[in-house]
Amino acid sequence: MSEHSHAELPDLPYDYDALEPHISEQVVTWHHDTHHQGYVNGLNSAEETLAENRASGDFGSSAAAMRNVTHNGCGHYLHTLFWDNMDPNGGGEPEGELRDRIEEDFGSYEAWKGEFEAAAGAAGGWALLVYDPVANQLRNLVVDKHDQGALWGSHPILALDVWEHSYYHDYGPARGDFIEGFFEVVDWDHAADEFHTCLDHFE
Ligand code: MN
Repeated sequence: MSEHSHAELPDLPYDYDALEPHISEQVVTWHHDTHHQGYVNGLNSAEETLAENRASGDFGSSAAAMRNVTHNGCGHYLHTLFWDNMDPNGGGEPEGELRDRIEEDFGSYEAWKGEFEAAAGAAGGWALLVYDPVANQLRNLVVDKHDQGALWGSHPILALDVWEHSYYHDYGPARGDFIEGFFEVVDWDHAADEFHTCLDHFE
């Protein structure tokens, strides 16, 4: 297999206990070291299968491997964004150009937040704020698993993991309390950086 297709688990951008009391050291440890690592391993394993099948000309297991690339690749990608879009010194509200665009596309920050919380309450996977370059607008998406509900071409700029492994140990069934906790550590500066990267690429 080629080197470029080998994914690696990124280090957390802060200590394992840095998001307490909103997300515990235990949950971050399990979530990063076991769950996220599992998606990285699954992605690499599927890539290896695809490469072997291309070399041998036997494509019998290739369709399953392609599905595994999507599932594990989206899991790896979204978890990486999730860690990056939180910060122990986070919280507050977006500012600047991102704030302006949120107000333009959703009516107000409060309307955006209410809609995002509805997505996070309903999703069987993730709530995402994405930039849709086709419509040239921000959107919230409800994502089941890691990819069901994706909108082609859209680039996630803020991701909230609402899989049970993300909150159940800390909050039990009170997912809404976890969502409130997320907003105490959300890193709007990182989301703004992602948004500006989108604008540079697409506008
Ligand atoms: Mn997760």
